[in-house]
Amino acid sequence: MKTGKTIYLDHQATTPLDRQVLAEMAPYHGGSFGNPHSSDHSLGWESARDTEKAAAQVARLIGADPDEIIFTSGATETNNMALLGLGRKAAGGRRHRILVSAIEHKSVLAPARVLEKQYAFTVEQIPVDRQGCVELSALNDMLDEDVLAVSIMAVNNEIGTIQNIAKISDRIRCHGAVFHCDAAQAPIAIPIASLATHTDILSLSGHKMYGPMGIGAIFIARLLQDRIEPLIYGGGQQSGFRSGTLPVPLCVGMGVAAELLTGEGAGEKRRELRRRRDHFVRRLRGSGWQVSLVGPEGGARHPANASLCFHGFSAHEILGALQPRLAASTGSACTSGIPEPSHVLRAIGLNGEDSEATIRFSLGFGTTDEDIEQSVILIEEVLEKLSKSKSV
Ligand code: PMP
Repeated sequence: MKTGKTIYLDHQATTPLDRQVLAEMAPYHGGSFGNPHSSDHSLGWESARDTEKAAAQVARLIGADPDEIIFTSGATETNNMALLGLGRKAAGGRRHRILVSAIEHKSVLAPARVLEKQYAFTVEQIPVDRQGCVELSALNDMLDEDVLAVSIMAVNNEIGTIQNIAKISDRIRCHGAVFHCDAAQAPIAIPIASLATHTDILSLSGHKMYGPMGIGAIFIARLLQDRIEPLIYGGGQQSGFRSGTLPVPLCVGMGVAAELLTGEGAGEKRRELRRRRDHFVRRLRGSGWQVSLVGPEGGARHPANASLCFHGFSAHEILGALQPRLAASTGSACTSGIPEPSHVLRAIGLNGEDSEATIRFSLGFGTTDEDIEQSVILIEEVLEKLSKSKSV
């Protein structure tokens, strides 16, 4: 996909709003403006009905029931709500350990640290292998009756690793711990129609799945709902879990985005992503420069993700030289700008130099074969230019 002069290969940072999603949101920015919590008039009832429909669409995407879905502002808030919500209610109890994988997003790692500092929990990191897969034997050894919760993401945002959630879930459930899964990157990568049955709490983000920015959702399994303390208090909307007026256009947008990814159609789109991504990686690996794939090699990788190490180069310099013609990123978009090596790349054993040389490219449904060819040409030109300037 081209936006002006820029080929956009940063879909794991954010996806563009789907045209159908935008069209279905449009009326809610005009005529249909009722507050969904206004229970005294028909405009309010209409908005309430539309947000309920959106919750049902999100529920269907993951195999949950509509009353197990609560809208939030995005996956960051959702991850905070999952960890802090559980931790604050369980503080002081027997279960005082929390396990998080070493490659979680910072919106999981940071609230886990808060639970450690302010609520006396012990937070431990579950190691991953070179592909980014959680070490199941280590997880087994760490699990016991003192573990309150385990947080493991479904699909990694930097290197695209897809975890075996069903297997992980079985182990966690044997020990009675709560399983939180950050699935923000999952809807594009894998079919998730039964993800809710394997998890207790799950996080989603609208703008990672062709929906709008500023909305996300948390799934909380019905049996667990009395174990979560809200983050936000007020008028008691959304069964008291998250007070505040629901943003109807955003809810509708996220619902439609979920619907578009539910069912058969998404499978063909994923196959196309994989075909183009594999071609992109093959072309760059065969370019004569030393380029290697970081993370999983086979099917356990997000079909749109190509995390590539350009040995001997600086990822920042490459991306800088590619502006404004090609958009991709170093590390995750949320941490770009903070001058510290990616904790994900460190966790899979990359050394500092290779981490600094790694770029995440992520394709989208709108990426064309022509975009891929152009991108390869642009990258080769930049590598040539940078290597010349280095040898001068
Ligand atoms: N988790 C993962 C895996 C993500 O990739 C992101 C976005 N980078 C988030 C959480 C945060 O999502 P949001 O932007 O909706 O807050």
